[in-house]
Amino acid sequence: MTDVNSIAVIGAGTMGGGIALTTAMSSIKASLIDVSPDQLERAKTYHAKTLARNVEKQRMTQAEADEAAGRISYHSDMAEAKDADWAIEAATENMDLKKRIFAQMLSTFGENVVLATNTSSISITALAASVAEAAYRVIGMHFFNPVPVMKLVEVIKGLDTSKETTQRTLHLVQAMGKTPVPANDRPGFVSNRILMPMINEAFYAWMEGVAEPAHIDEIMTLGMAHPMGPLRLADLIGLDVCHDIMMVLYEGLGQDKYFPCPLLRQLVAAGKLGNKSGKGVYDYSKG
Ligand code: NAD
Repeated sequence: MTDVNSIAVIGAGTMGGGIALTTAMSSIKASLIDVSPDQLERAKTYHAKTLARNVEKQRMTQAEADEAAGRISYHSDMAEAKDADWAIEAATENMDLKKRIFAQMLSTFGENVVLATNTSSISITALAASVAEAAYRVIGMHFFNPVPVMKLVEVIKGLDTSKETTQRTLHLVQAMGKTPVPANDRPGFVSNRILMPMINEAFYAWMEGVAEPAHIDEIMTLGMAHPMGPLRLADLIGLDVCHDIMMVLYEGLGQDKYFPCPLLRQLVAAGKLGNKSGKGVYDYSKG
């Protein structure tokens, strides 16, 4: 059971759009906020298409889809969502930006509102320190992409996150139809601490000529039952994102083994970022 009736989601990109839709499909109101009108428009289109597909596939009725769509509102000003009783920040992965957004969240929302972040690598404790008087209600809610499909939410406690905040978060995640798994606030949490070094090692295997990318991916899909090989997954995540998360692990854990593979660094420097740039490990430019 959750006492949450409405959630403000800050950032309407890949993750924020997905979080807002999942919220609405769990009978909770979602106010989606972004500084970019284009991103809000894109999120609206994504919501309409996804709900229509769910109806087509008979996962929900037309009436349920209409109700879910009606629960989402779109805003360029956070103040318009000030009555929300929960906030999830899902804006661009940048510490200074997130600190500014957290300061704004603190002054906008009521004093019982949990201030959650969907960051994949930034320290929850450091973010909480930027809103020191509210540090007890800051927590990580790390959703996975695509949000409506992926069951896991890694729930990350900062040093000062209260037990009550953690409990309420676990309940909310369940009410959203997801499975919460708790973790402590260390670089990369659990998911990226394990996933990213595996991806980095796949780049080393490629760089050293152990096998070509398609074979590295095939070995991991067929042999380890991974739904997608590590190099294909790196393209999907974005090679720049993989690089940045490795740097968080390297700087936070202080061990050379986390340093991004030279080949990964080179591809990023060349602007070959994966699916989003048309080329990465693989070439997507021809569709
Ligand atoms: P994205 O680039 O798709 O979206 C980020 C959005 O934030 C953009 O729409 C941008 O306009 C908006 N934004 C920037 N400044 C803002 C502000 N001041 N106020 C409101 N909105 C603002 O990024 P994404 O992939 O959705 O990632 C968002 C967060 O989720 C990041 O912290 C990322 O690390 C994390 N995350 C991403 C994934 C993934 O697979 N993409 C998975 C888990 C977690």
